Amino acid sequence: AQSIAESDAELWKAIESERERQEAHIELIASENYTSPAVMEAQGSELTNKYAEGYPGKRYYGGCEFVDIAETLAIERVKTLFGADYANVQPHSGAQANAAVFSALVRPGDIIMGMNLAHGGHLTHGHPANFSGKDYQVVAYGLDPETGLINYDEMERLALEHKPKMIIGGFSAYSRFKDWARMREIADKIGAWFWVDMAHVAGLVAAGVYPSPMDHAHVVTSTTHKTLRGPRGGIILSKGQDEALHKKLNSAVFPGIQGGPLMHVIAAKAVAFKEALAEDFKTYQQQVVVNARAMAQVFVDRGYKVVSGGTDNHLFLLDLVAKDVTGKDAEAALGRAHITVNKNAVPNDPRSPFVTSGLRIGSPAGTTRGFSAGDMAAVAGWIGDIVDAMSSSGDVDAVIAQVRAQVEALCAAHPVYQAARRAA
Ligand code: PLP
Repeated sequence: AQSIAESDAELWKAIESERERQEAHIELIASENYTSPAVMEAQGSELTNKYAEGYPGKRYYGGCEFVDIAETLAIERVKTLFGADYANVQPHSGAQANAAVFSALVRPGDIIMGMNLAHGGHLTHGHPANFSGKDYQVVAYGLDPETGLINYDEMERLALEHKPKMIIGGFSAYSRFKDWARMREIADKIGAWFWVDMAHVAGLVAAGVYPSPMDHAHVVTSTTHKTLRGPRGGIILSKGQDEALHKKLNSAVFPGIQGGPLMHVIAAKAVAFKEALAEDFKTYQQQVVVNARAMAQVFVDRGYKVVSGGTDNHLFLLDLVAKDVTGKDAEAALGRAHITVNKNAVPNDPRSPFVTSGLRIGSPAGTTRGFSAGDMAAVAGWIGDIVDAMSSSGDVDAVIAQVRAQVEALCAAHPVYQAARRAA
């Protein structure tokens, strides 16, 4: 058998270039991380060849005895990790897990309530461009523009007025704890389902450094590839013995919206869940929060506006309205310095979602490669140097060149995979 390098030079070059990019650039996209080589080994395994429609012990195909072991390990481990009584590890992605929850709990045309995308919600929480906003009537809750915090009183007022069938907790860009108990209270007042999409903070929740939604939500979904540091994919969890609910959720995934499960990805999820159960995962997640705070503090000290004034988790939003620098331009300039971030709307953003006035900055990937709080503070300082130069018509090119040299040195001191490869 030929390697990709031998058989397909064109594709191999793209893979190699991406590998080099990941080593040589500082990754601050809050939803990204570096999986372990063991996760990638499982995902590159022969399990990709197997059809296994159905669930362990109840398959529509023969020869499933070994993939059954892999899926059962994934299910049992993730239940232990989050204290769940039910787990489905088959959703191909976070969006698929969320689509399954919609189809299990509500009917097209029903009213649902989710966090406004512009305030930190996700597309699948009711955005008009997504199925969740097209097939359902959406009432959106959001932030108090003054404090940058979720306005729970307004959420309750809207819920009592519109009586949604389902309330969605969870976010893609919110830096504070969410009050799951208060949200469940609101849902109970109107007899609504309360579903939490903890995709962003699942790793922090697993490690006990972010409040767990498990005791409050009827259903919890997550991706497995963000702070949880597993392969790309989704999961659905629930606490309690509501067998009818578990059955509905399973049927919603298969045969409802998916065909054959990705058994190689499910095996990789099992690897990641075992890693997340280990003691050093707690230390990692604690450092993720320490590192995000160290970065946010640098910006606060330099007079930048950080939405809500800081962070309790792995990310924060930088509001650049006062700097008169767009998120789009800042993202591009930082990219030239080999620092990867994403532009993000800020509360009351005067600019379009394609331009924005903010940046979302996250610490999970940098922490995985071993950056300390001091390293992260230095990176925040370099970002500040570049944005300040943009804001004051300084010599942006010179600052970018200077920063890029420092980025190179820091990345070289903290290889992502090279150390593991050399040891293997
Ligand atoms: N839910 C939340 C809160 C997210 O932030 C994301 C991804 O950004 C998703 C769901 C979707 O996950 P995926 O990209 O795996 O479909």
